[in-house]
Formats: sequence, C-alpha cells, structure tokens
Amino acid sequence: MKDLQDLVRPNIWALKPYSCARDEFKGFKADVFLDANENPFPNGVNRYPDPLQEKLKACIAPLKGVPVQNMFLGNGSDEAIDLPFRIFCRPGIDNVVAIAPTYGMYEVCADVNDVEYRKVLLDEHYDFSPQALLDACDDNTKIIFICSPNNPTGNAFRREKIEEVLEKFQGIVIVDEAYSEFSSQRPLRLDLAKYPNLIVLNTFSKAMGCAGIRLGMAFASVEIIGLMNKVKYPYNVNVLTQQRAMEALRNQALLQQHISQILAERQTLMQAFALLPICKKVYPTDANFFLAKVTDADRIYRYLVEHAVVVRNRNRVALCGDCLRITIGLKEENTRLLAALRQYVQ
Ligand code: PMP
Repeated sequence: MKDLQDLVRPNIWALKPYSCARDEFKGFKADVFLDANENPFPNGVNRYPDPLQEKLKACIAPLKGVPVQNMFLGNGSDEAIDLPFRIFCRPGIDNVVAIAPTYGMYEVCADVNDVEYRKVLLDEHYDFSPQALLDACDDNTKIIFICSPNNPTGNAFRREKIEEVLEKFQGIVIVDEAYSEFSSQRPLRLDLAKYPNLIVLNTFSKAMGCAGIRLGMAFASVEIIGLMNKVKYPYNVNVLTQQRAMEALRNQALLQQHISQILAERQTLMQAFALLPICKKVYPTDANFFLAKVTDADRIYRYLVEHAVVVRNRNRVALCGDCLRITIGLKEENTRLLAALRQYVQ
C-alpha cells in the first residue's frame, strides 16, 4: 500500500474538523450542559447524540469481532460508501475500479463526486479475475470496490481472490459484506489487522433487520477510521437510531433464529422456483436473495406487480438479461410469489 498521505486528498489531510460542543470537555464528569444551545426541557431527544456513538460501538464490537477503534458508524452504508470518495478521490482527476454488475450506489457516489468509475465485467459464472481488476487501474486509481456476496448476482467470491487484490493493489480496497451473515464464508472483517488498505462495509439493514433506522458500519485501520470521523457530519447517527440499534442487538437469539429461517426459506423457495415453467436458471446464492433467469423478465415483472408482488427486475443490468432478483420473504410471502407465477400464462 502507498503511504496513506499519498492516497488522501491534500485538503482532507490538512482538514481541521468541526469540534462539537460535547467533544471539548472529554475526561471530566459533567451533568449541567449549557454548551450546545439545546432546549433544556427533557423529552428523550432534546440533547445531541454522541458524535462517536461510543456506547453503541461497545455493543457492536464483541458481536462483530472488531475493536471499537476500527469501527465507523454512519447513516446507512450509503454514508460509508460516499465518504471514501470524498476522502481519497480528487474530483475530475482520480478514478475507482469496480466489478460489474454490482451494487449501484458505488457508481452513483462516483458520479456525485465527479470521479471516473471503471467497470470490470464479471465472467459467465459471475466471478472476477484479480488481474483484470488490477489491469484496469492506473496511478490515479484510489479505490477498488468488491461486493461479496455480490448484489445482484448473490454469490460470494473466494477469499484468496479478494486477498490477492488486497495484497497487490497500492490503494484502498472496499469489500462490501452487507450480506455476509447469510454466507458460510469467513468474513474478511475478522482479518482487518492484516490489511492496512482494507475497508469492510456492514449494515444493520439486512440480517440485523433494521433497514428503517439507517445504520451502516465500516471497519478499517485506526488511521482510515480517523479520516472518516474527521469528514463525516458531526452528529451523523441520531439518538433514536443509536437506541434502537442497541435494543436490536440485545436479542441475539431472535436475530439468529430469523437468519436460520431465511436460509431455510431460501432453499425451499429456490427449489420451487426452479421448477416453474417460466424459470430458465436459478443462480447459486450466499445472500438473502437470489437471481433467476426467466423467459421474459419485463413481462413477468409487470405481471407480478399487477398481482401486488414486487421483485427486482434486473433485465437491463449487464450480464443479467431476463433476470429477476428475488428477496427471501416470510413463508406466506414466498408462497404468494409462487402461487402467482404458477398462474402465469406464457
Ligand atoms: N451494500 C449492498 C451490497 C447492498 O445491496 C445494500 C442495499 N441494497 C447496501 C449496501 C445498503 O445498505 P444500507 O441500507 O446500509 O445503506
């Protein structure tokens, strides 16, 4: 990896971050807060949240096996995807490389930040070649994005391939493990200490069942986390989200039970789907969704919407012609999908 300072935009390296009122008295115990121009009448949310979410991070650390100092929390993974562009990529000069097809927000964030987005197409097995990713890079490539398990294809990539990229690429590698709880592969976040150029993304939106609270996680070296904290909005995770996340974490048994149920349903639904006359192929998956090639994705998508069932039409995505992406729902929801499709007249 290059020196971190050589990768970071000079203005960000030199940035003096906003200092929150709550940050300045650290180390002292206080119970009279006349520092932040808040309304003093208590209602549960009249105070600003902890800007570094320390209590919440302390709850997450043992569950994820990542120390607090290697953790960033943000407003969904979206924030953790956007910040590295703002930290590392000079608009109009630098570029990023990503597998394709993959999660659409990487490209949107690149476009918003005026950063060239270079796509490297997966092969016919939806797999990637480390060398092809490296060949797409030049001196101005700051970040490589790998999503594993990948959205929309569903498959997790072999660790050795991701590790080859981490070892050979001189810049930052972002590995989005949003769906890792549904995969049997060992998550890369557990090997953070080995790779100073690695940022792993996780989210509360999928297996944790909290898409509505908008809470994303990034795991990286202390230095990279420091940069993310410097650039983020001071109070980026609100009080309600922090409270609700801690509640969600308390019931680990229930979370695990839901994941097991989703995995069992995944198998049942995929087997039944494969037998439908409209189904040409069900792709293997390591996530809580699967991709299926069907006879006519546009028409079947519209038919399902008319029957009040919404799936994701990926027909116009590269390598996903006539593909639908189907999230595993409750048993009764999956049954509704299958029942509707059994009535479909080709
Ligand atoms: N990463 C991937 C790969 C995703 O598919 C999604 C959601 N579709 C996200 C991140 C978004 O996560 P969040 O809700 O935390 O912004």
